[in-house]
Amino acid sequence: MATDKVIEGPVVIIGTGQAGFQTAASLRIEGFEGDIFMFGDEPGLPYQRPPLSKAFFKDGSADRLLFRNQDFFEKNNINIKDNCSVKSIDRHQKQVLLDDGAAISYEHLVLATGTRNRELPIAGSDLKNVLVLRTLADANHIRKTAKADQRVVMIGGGFIGLELASVLRDFGCEVAVIEAESRPMARAVSEQISTYFVDAHTKSGIKIHCSSMVSQILGDNEAEGVKLSDGTEIGADLVFICAGVVPNSEIASEAGLKTNNGILVDDLLLSNDPSISAIGDCASFVHKNSGVLVRLESVQNAADQAKCVAKRLTGNPQAYNAVPWFWSDQGGKKLQIAGLTGNADQLICHEDEENGKISVFAFENAQFVGVEAVNMATNYVISRKILETGKPVTLSDFEASDFDLREVLKKIG
Ligand SMILES: Cc1cc2nc3c(=O)[nH]c(=O)nc-3n(C[C@H](O)[C@H](O)[C@H](O)COP(=O)(O)OP(=O)(O)OC[C@H]3O[C@@H](n4cnc5c(N)ncnc54)[C@H](O)[C@@H]3O)c2cc1C
Repeated sequence: MATDKVIEGPVVIIGTGQAGFQTAASLRIEGFEGDIFMFGDEPGLPYQRPPLSKAFFKDGSADRLLFRNQDFFEKNNINIKDNCSVKSIDRHQKQVLLDDGAAISYEHLVLATGTRNRELPIAGSDLKNVLVLRTLADANHIRKTAKADQRVVMIGGGFIGLELASVLRDFGCEVAVIEAESRPMARAVSEQISTYFVDAHTKSGIKIHCSSMVSQILGDNEAEGVKLSDGTEIGADLVFICAGVVPNSEIASEAGLKTNNGILVDDLLLSNDPSISAIGDCASFVHKNSGVLVRLESVQNAADQAKCVAKRLTGNPQAYNAVPWFWSDQGGKKLQIAGLTGNADQLICHEDEENGKISVFAFENAQFVGVEAVNMATNYVISRKILETGKPVTLSDFEASDFDLREVLKKIG
């Protein structure tokens, strides 16, 4: 199924987010001279999402979010169309069908359709002052709507919910976070890191309710609060739904591509059609080192997968094998994660309580698989380098060096 044939074009990219933008940019870096067409259903040029739940609330500078300005696309001969939704894929004709009825031919198609916010099937979700955050438009709406003295309820204590909670708390809002799991960020970080952030957010005045389900958003026209499944009512002027995302994989499955929590791709990031790749938040793949089927929602994954596809399309195919990394900024604390820590069976925690720093080293079958570090950039950076060597490193190696990571790296390097 895999091909190392050099593509002449056109390459069509659906989605103008991190992965779509990087694919086009990397194709030109790799010397691709054929036509590139990008279609995105949001208005404007491709932009970075991470600041939307961080600095953007304060500075509101949309220009600073752009990956590149219009000049870049013109100079690199990248045809980009915004406000344009791709409705379907005709694999037989090798064409995509746009919402204005146009059919665009491709030699290779890259699906970089990302995710959308999960909708909650609870009464009141459609009330005024119930907000979500995924796009620049959402972030602008939040900036216009939020007032410093408001009571805010955040439904969902994942990364985005907690980042936004801390930004709004800094702004002067009274914030409560309602989390269904027994701890926030439960799907993504260890218990130690969850506990660390619960303490930090609680100290800043945010109220975190775990193991709590919202059964209803209260109010007639505007949201006035939420009702929990145990009957507790919490008043609110603004309610945010930050309950995770679902992959935009419908146009792929309707075209007969295989999906499983995202568009299924092989180690070259090809779908079950050798003329169609899928990358970024919308793609599910078996992570090489762990053997686990994952769909990663991170800048690193979107950008590195795009580079990998650009290399393949220009005749340099390589199996995707990048070490995942991620960051989150919450209330002045920087969490950095390298590797996949979800299946770890042993966690070694080093905490400097006085200075608010913590690192959790994760091991699976005694093999080092990742680190979660808060305000400990060196531990994160060196751990990532250790993982990037691809060499097996065990807990004993760490213990033999008394957790001196530079020494561990030197020994295997
Ligand atoms: C508020 C926020 C904060 C974040 N913070 C961090 C962070 O701190 N660190 C980190 O690593 N990651 C963070 N992320 C995640 C990161 O931004 C995503 O992983 C990354 O944007 C994924 O890029 P993508 O191109 O795969 O998808 P997206 O950025 O979602 O882009 C996909 C685009 O395709 C469009 N599209 C979908 N279907 C179609 C169609 N049929 N036709 C046309 N267009 C279509 C979508 O509307 C969207 O514009 C954050 C995300 C958000 C929302």
